[in-house]
Formats: sequence, C-alpha cells, structure tokens
Amino acid sequence: MKTPFYYYNDEVLGKTLDTINCEAAKYENFFVHYAVKANTNRQVLKRIQEAGLGADCVSGGEIQAALDAGFSAQSIVFAGVGKNDWEINLGLDAGIMCFNVESLPELEVINLLAGKKGKIANVCMRINPDVDAHTHANITTGMSENKFGIAYQDMFSIVSAAQNMENIRFKGLHFHIGSQILDMVDFRHLCSRINELVDELEARGISLDIINVGGGLGVDYVNPEDHPIPDFKDYFSTYNTYLKRNKNQQIHFELGRAVVAQCGRLITKVLFVKESRSRKFAIVDAGMTDLIRPALYDAHHKIRNISNTHTPYYIYDVVGPICESSDVFDRDISLSETKRGDYLEILSAGAYGEIMASQYNCRELPKGYISSEFPNLVQNLLQENQ
Ligand code: PLP
Repeated sequence: MKTPFYYYNDEVLGKTLDTINCEAAKYENFFVHYAVKANTNRQVLKRIQEAGLGADCVSGGEIQAALDAGFSAQSIVFAGVGKNDWEINLGLDAGIMCFNVESLPELEVINLLAGKKGKIANVCMRINPDVDAHTHANITTGMSENKFGIAYQDMFSIVSAAQNMENIRFKGLHFHIGSQILDMVDFRHLCSRINELVDELEARGISLDIINVGGGLGVDYVNPEDHPIPDFKDYFSTYNTYLKRNKNQQIHFELGRAVVAQCGRLITKVLFVKESRSRKFAIVDAGMTDLIRPALYDAHHKIRNISNTHTPYYIYDVVGPICESSDVFDRDISLSETKRGDYLEILSAGAYGEIMASQYNCRELPKGYISSEFPNLVQNLLQENQ
C-alpha cells in the first residue's frame, strides 16, 4: 500500500456515532448535524449519514458532498461568512433546512435570490456572542474581533430586517464559539449569553423555533487510546442544564472534530533517520501537505512506530519532506528505535486531516480507507516491506 494514507477505524467511528445518538436522544428536540468540513471522505460521510446525523456545511461544495452522500436537504444547515451566489442558489434549489446568515448584506442577497425563484429561505442569524472558547487563536470564532457572525448588540436590528423581508422566514439563532473545547464552562458561558439574547427577543414578541449552538467539543489528543470516545454525555447534559428553552424549541448541534478525530490515523513511512549534532530526525514521507494541523495550529498528535514496538526508546523530531521549516509533526518525542522503512502512525488524525491536504510541492493527495481491520492492515504493510 502506498504511503502516506489515512486509515479510519470503522468500529471506533461506529461507537462514536452510537454514543452521540444515545446521549442526544436523552433530551427532547436535540438534533445533531455533522460538520462536514472535518472530514469529507466519501465512506466516512456515508457512515455518518447512515447513523442519522444531519449535515452542517460551509460551502456549496460541502452541500453537494452531503447530498451525494445521501444526507437529505432538509437535514442540511449552511453557514459561512462569504457565501457565493451559486452556493446560495444551490441551497435554495436543494431546499436545505436553514441558512445560517452572517451579515445584513448576505441576508439581503438571500432574500433577492430566493425572490427570483419564488422561494422562501429559512434563516437563523449567526450571532457572535463574544464568548472566549479558551482555545488556539486560529480556531476561536466567537470573539468580537473574529470575522464570524453578527455582533450580538446588532441582533435585534437584523432580526427585524429579516421579518420584513418577503422571501425570508426567520427561524432562530446560530452560534459557534470555536473548536477543541474541553472545559464545559465555556459552553456554559455560551448558554448564558444565548439565554440573555433569547430573553431579549422574546420580550419584543419574537419567538424562536431553532437555537443552533454550533460545535466545538474537543478530543483527547494526548491520550487518545484512553479516551477514544469524547465526553458526549457531559456535553449534551451541559446544554440541557444551562440552556433555557421552551418545549417546542429545537436545539441543534454541529459537531465535527468530536465525531471523526479519534477514528483516523495517518500512516507514514520513514524515509531516513538523520542525526545532526544535537538532534535525531525521523524524516517521514507524510508532510504538512497531508496533515497540516501541527504546522497551522501547533497541534499535538501522538506518534508511534508500528514496525518496532520494542525498546530501546530514543528521542526524535518527526519531520516531513516539505520544503518548509514548519513541516514538523513533533519535536523531542520518544519513539522505539526507528530506522528507514519503518511505519509510523500519527493518531487522532480523522478530523481536519485528509480534508485539509494540499498538493503543495506537487505532491499527490493522500488516500483514505475505512475498515475495522487495522491490525491486518498493519500486518500486510509490514510483510510487504520485508
Ligand atoms: N459549525 C461551524 C459554523 C464551524 O465553523 C465549525 C468548525 O469550524 C463547526 C461547526 C465544527 O466545529 P468542531 O469540529 O470543533 O466541532
């Protein structure tokens, strides 16, 4: 098999989806959409669609990928600060559930395009709640300085504008404060802000059918094997406890990372081991073009040598072949003795991995395979290489 490639463990994905369904079903009117941006591998998408989740999309391409994978248009929500006309038209033609609108000019264009088609577009307003997600700056989205959403102070004026537009049906509010959030306190803060805003609207006689709280639940990148399934129990129960709502209101979630991160691994081959005066580099055939998270977000992924699981351990920097100094998967990590031809696995790589791959340096895009046969797969790889 050609490396590098992504391997998705079907069993882990299945257990994750079962847990999501089981925990969300404990509460009335909780609906979970999968944030397609995390991983659009066809088989992975299909698996998630079969489990009954809806889709959360941020581009026309994602809407098309979701439709192609069998998600019903009525389960699709569509966010994004810069929606192109063709993307809005695609959403209107497909009859998606809701546009999550991020500005007044966008709302006006949706109204215009829907009018041309004689349609009514359902919209939620994406409000920037100015709540800190205490996560990496590049994945924080709900602070006033971020480009996303409508300032919460401007909520009322845009909602009243929507109510006066002929081809718009105002459905509710949408939020998303950031990603890789592990402390439920951040979600509690979001709930408090939402409660204030909903009260404000209701005091003016405006009722909401939908409150969409976005995604953001994090995963354990440090000890993924101890926590392969994120804490969905705590997550949904936090919203159930802290979000005020009436019994007809639907609560929507848009989870990406928490659905797919732990089922995926990037498998790569060691090209060379190079020793400089101060360091030992394991140079692998995967690079930041295959998994950009460490270079982009300083993200940590556990790495293991699957060809040699025995001691002795040495300290390595695991680096890719790309001509960029940031093409480093990790520094100063302990790996069992590593030599040319060994296979390494980079864990927790199912979210924002394959989908963010690029062809920089004229490289091929990595392929992704879903299976529950990882041990056999590794065995085959090792044998192939003997
Ligand atoms: N919803 C929106 C609007 C997003 O922008 C994102 C991620 O960027 C998500 C949901 C999914 O976030 P996560 O993968 O952290 O659950």
